[in-house]
Amino acid sequence: MDKSWMTEPNRLRSPAYAAGVNNFLEMAQNHARGSDRIRCPCRICSNNLFLPLFIVESHLFINGIDLNYTEWIFHGEEETRNFDVDDEEVAVSDEDEFIDDMDNMLDDILAGTNIDVPQSSTPLLSWDSFPKSLPVSSFDELLEDARRPLFGGCTKFSKLSFIVKLLHIKTLGGWSIKSFDMLLNLLKSAFPDAELPLSYEDACSLERGLGFKYNKIHACPNDCILYWKEYSKLNSCPICKASRWMSTTNGTRVIPHKVLRHFPLKPRLQRLFLSTKIAAEMRWHKEKRVTDENFLRHPADSKSWKAFDEAHSWFANDPRNVRLGLASDGFNPFNNMAKPYSIWPVILVPYNLPPWLCMKDQFFMTSLIIPGPKSPGNDIDVYL
Ligand SMILES: [Zn+2]
Ligand SMILES: [Zn+2]
Repeated sequence: MDKSWMTEPNRLRSPAYAAGVNNFLEMAQNHARGSDRIRCPCRICSNNLFLPLFIVESHLFINGIDLNYTEWIFHGEEETRNFDVDDEEVAVSDEDEFIDDMDNMLDDILAGTNIDVPQSSTPLLSWDSFPKSLPVSSFDELLEDARRPLFGGCTKFSKLSFIVKLLHIKTLGGWSIKSFDMLLNLLKSAFPDAELPLSYEDACSLERGLGFKYNKIHACPNDCILYWKEYSKLNSCPICKASRWMSTTNGTRVIPHKVLRHFPLKPRLQRLFLSTKIAAEMRWHKEKRVTDENFLRHPADSKSWKAFDEAHSWFANDPRNVRLGLASDGFNPFNNMAKPYSIWPVILVPYNLPPWLCMKDQFFMTSLIIPGPKSPGNDIDVYL
């Protein structure tokens, strides 16, 4: 839409401004779908107030439209997501955003698994001490496989990006696994050259192999306990007696009430120490931090950090100790506030890193996904 009218110098006499306001209000009215009030984007209201259309109109002439409001997302214009333009990150168009994200993510995973053999005489990491749980060579093969074009000459999709897109549509559309497999069969017979998975299970295993692996742990619907360790075999909650399973009409399938997704932390931490660069940054809080009593620049400057160090000197003395910040908030994964469904991701942030790294999203680690609909509140302890 034309927005040049926004900066017209003489609003009350400019036909261009009047026409612009008209077009804007028309779009806003369509967007409001029957409601008689819209957000007023004038310089005083700044979209904070919902006002009747005719008042918004007069505000737009008297106060003028807020010049910072250039993407009319509250009035029907599609939001174009812009990433913070960093050295590595560039704004991407909507259409390719998803796929570009995919590639960045693979780069992140790859950056975390590439092993820089230290040049010093005493290597920090030897192959013998290398954790057996990280099969690096097969991971590389898997990564290469995932990055292969969907078919010869295809530049738009890699094998992985296509599968992920397909799985995404399956989730959004609520397809059954059977219908997903049927579509795969159809696609395979229509496009025999395409590198498609054989089945839903096959598609998921590619994702899992790339480190998007998680454990499912059943939970009491009232957040009393997790069905693991001593409770793993129980069929109802020992505290509130609620059943572990949803009642099914024919009794052939048992569906758990609540399933926690747990993303194991150890391999994520091991990955941080696989790169010599990041491993060094992980000691920043101890080795490079400037200590100055008067300033709080990093969690390590805080009283609680110091109190912890005093109480646990054996832990504090090793610069490779790991401190994690924990954050959680509920959100609606389907971006639809009309649905009461929400999930509670628990995100961990390594506070060892310098301030300019520790809040970068590539270091955020998803640790748990607690299903909704309501906040676990203090019961979050059960999950932690
Ligand atoms: Zn206003
Ligand atoms: Zn319970």
